[in-house]
Amino acid sequence: MKKVNGHEIINLFEQWSPKRFAEDWDPVGLHIGQLNRPVDRVVITLDVNEAVVDEAIEKGANLIIAHHPPIFSPMKHIWTDTPQGRLIEKCIKNDISVYAAHTNLDVAPGGVNDLLASRLGLEDIEVMEPTISDPLYKLAVFCPVEHADELREELARSGAGAIGDYAGCSFTSTGVGRFTPAAGAAPFIGEVGKTEEVAEERIEVVLPGPLRSKVLKAMLAAHPYEEPAYDFFVLDQRTQEFGLGRVGKLPAAMELNEFANFVKQALDVPAARIVGDLSKPVRKIAVLGGSGSKYIRAAKRKGADVFVTGDMDFHSAQDAEMMDLAIVDPGHHVEKVMVEGVARYMEQACQAKGYDVSFIESEIDTEPFRFV
Ligand SMILES: [Zn+2]
Repeated sequence: MKKVNGHEIINLFEQWSPKRFAEDWDPVGLHIGQLNRPVDRVVITLDVNEAVVDEAIEKGANLIIAHHPPIFSPMKHIWTDTPQGRLIEKCIKNDISVYAAHTNLDVAPGGVNDLLASRLGLEDIEVMEPTISDPLYKLAVFCPVEHADELREELARSGAGAIGDYAGCSFTSTGVGRFTPAAGAAPFIGEVGKTEEVAEERIEVVLPGPLRSKVLKAMLAAHPYEEPAYDFFVLDQRTQEFGLGRVGKLPAAMELNEFANFVKQALDVPAARIVGDLSKPVRKIAVLGGSGSKYIRAAKRKGADVFVTGDMDFHSAQDAEMMDLAIVDPGHHVEKVMVEGVARYMEQACQAKGYDVSFIESEIDTEPFRFV
């Protein structure tokens, strides 16, 4: 097993939940401390408060991955006799770094919203409110026939050729490559000053913009030629859309009242607020972790019968009622599903890389509300 530092762990995490998925206003990333030191235990939590930092100290962890950013508004002072200042002081004194993945983890496939959708047993899940898609490129590379299989494999391994649910997609045509090695060349095939003809394949793959340099590096490393010939094309297409919230269907319709009780059970909350006729049958469900008041129209546009989200405000609830969109508000804290979800994902990802690091699910309950 390989000892790792914070950067290696976060690089792996960001392959899943990149910062570019975050909303512009969202201060995601490293908040406290540094990533440039060894890490062998990581605490995963929804929120960072002093009790969570104490838990990290007690369990010997030196990195906390949280969903909610602990420093949301810019600070002008760090006064250590305030709760926030004390928390920062405690982290620094105990060499604990804090990293936040907020709306990027909401958007990431398999992140907060997919975790909620899966707890609710939804099927045919799609994104509710698209927020981002990437430009699509095409790479065409010319390669001697005998090396084409290996090159195709390396391109696929670097992430090129992913189309929807299919990986390693490529198209190949054959032809003849001609070249004359000039003085100073060290040709893989042929000799200086003599024109060569080689049976070659033209391999075409598509790739999302953010993978461009990774794919190019992989191609250059795998290609046998000193100076591989290749073209990058910008396509008039974009990748699949990523976004906030999810919409899906229950296996069978149920009455709103029954569904609300199911939500309480599935998301482990003691109470939920409901808008709408309790006997209304519901099947198409929109879900968005956190505060969803702003997204009632997006849920309605997607044809949802009911929208499951937290922090519903009075006037948005009235608007939803008028547009015949039922609401089940189980609170903001249901985002706690990310604790187990992130721990499982990162355990697997680190295991595959042989990283010697363990992930601890925080046991601190950060729900501020009690129900009477
Ligand atoms: Zn939240």
